[in-house]
Amino acid sequence: MDTLIELENISQRYEVGDREVTVLDNINLTVKEGEFVGILGPSGSGKSTLLRIMAGLVKPTAGIVRYRGQPLTGVNPGIGFVFQTFALFPWLTVLENVELGLKQKGLDPAERRQRALAAIDVVGLDGFENAYPKELSGGMRQRVGFGRALAVEPDILLMDEPFSALDVLTAENLRRDFLELWLEKKLPTKAVILVTHGIEELVYMADRAVVLSGHPAHIVADVNINLPHWRDKEDPGFMTQVDALYRILTKKEPATVTAGPRIAPLDDKKFALVPAVRAGAMTGLIELLEDAGGRADLYRLADNLILDVEDFLPIVQAVELLGFAHVDAGDIELTATGNAFAQASVLERKDIFRKQVLKRVPAMQRIIHVIATKSNKQLPREFLLDILERQFGPKEATRQLETLIDWGRYAEVLGYDEYTHNLFLEEFSLDEAAR
Ligand code: ADP
Ligand code: MG
Repeated sequence: MDTLIELENISQRYEVGDREVTVLDNINLTVKEGEFVGILGPSGSGKSTLLRIMAGLVKPTAGIVRYRGQPLTGVNPGIGFVFQTFALFPWLTVLENVELGLKQKGLDPAERRQRALAAIDVVGLDGFENAYPKELSGGMRQRVGFGRALAVEPDILLMDEPFSALDVLTAENLRRDFLELWLEKKLPTKAVILVTHGIEELVYMADRAVVLSGHPAHIVADVNINLPHWRDKEDPGFMTQVDALYRILTKKEPATVTAGPRIAPLDDKKFALVPAVRAGAMTGLIELLEDAGGRADLYRLADNLILDVEDFLPIVQAVELLGFAHVDAGDIELTATGNAFAQASVLERKDIFRKQVLKRVPAMQRIIHVIATKSNKQLPREFLLDILERQFGPKEATRQLETLIDWGRYAEVLGYDEYTHNLFLEEFSLDEAAR
């Protein structure tokens, strides 16, 4: 089969303020005709960036993208792009919205119309050609988006979480309809690349799974999914495959990030990223685990909670970081500390949580020690934010600080004054700092 797209040693860095953040690190990927590839990875791991690089919308900092053997110089002529939600023009009909995708193709109006009508037919919107977006349901609007991407008859269809903005049933329908078109070769497309954070969605649809992970993100797995279509979610083979991917995603990687310029004693060492999860979410998971007898299959648990991996994984990581549970071979098990926590009263829980945070979260220890050195035992939030921003960029820095404040408040080591925007120490941390 012909090679359609090739990524060779692709790296992507962004400038955030006065420092550079590496998002993608040395990505190598080849996609051939006939392939349906799923790309899986946590939020912020660079999945959208990777698709945009393949589309030629973003020029990578390093590396080469080839389409049919030719290095890309601008927008990739062979792709169609499906987004999570489409900006449909409200004043244009379905037909006109789909035709819009063909404007740059230099087709004559009759051919353009004919292609648009064919695409509308394929995505099941026959009869709605003259409807306006506001007359359509969310699922139908998304179908218009698929139609717009397919009308150009792209070699490769790039899809960025195309089902994630839809309600469960609509998403299920659209997945099934799309897969049917693909399997029955009714699409004018030779390969599909689907970005998703749903493992089940990937195993249901794709024949190959590429997993992105780490900071910066790199490919940690590239495996075939050798199950015949149509796949059944209750089938043991299906579950084994989902479990295997779950395991890859939950495997720990050292979460260190290169430090920015030295600016303050607090910045001496690198801050390790903490999972951005509220203390309450951890408590919830620990209680659930206790109910389940102290041990559960991670994927089953997420499934029972109807949670996406993207939402669930950070909670698992946080609980592990604090030593409340241990993940092993796709199972999560409460530790003795986790058990004690589950059975403790509200106040005892705060004690246990405090001990764990102070013992296991270096960022918290350092924040406390810095505040303790100040005579008024207070520190402006902005000060910490600045330091974190140098390391993580503005968005992640805010998430990190909010998470640390939330944990600190729950543990009653840190207080935060919403009025002065100062962080201050609670009694317990003064003791801690004095030791
Ligand atoms: P994903 O799609 O996996 O959630 P993205 O590719 O959207 O991840 O983003 C990966 C990282 O790159 C994020 O931390 C994001 O903030 C950062 N990023 C994306 N685009 C830009 C940009 N144009 N400038 C700076 N940072 C960016
Ligand atoms: Mg994205």
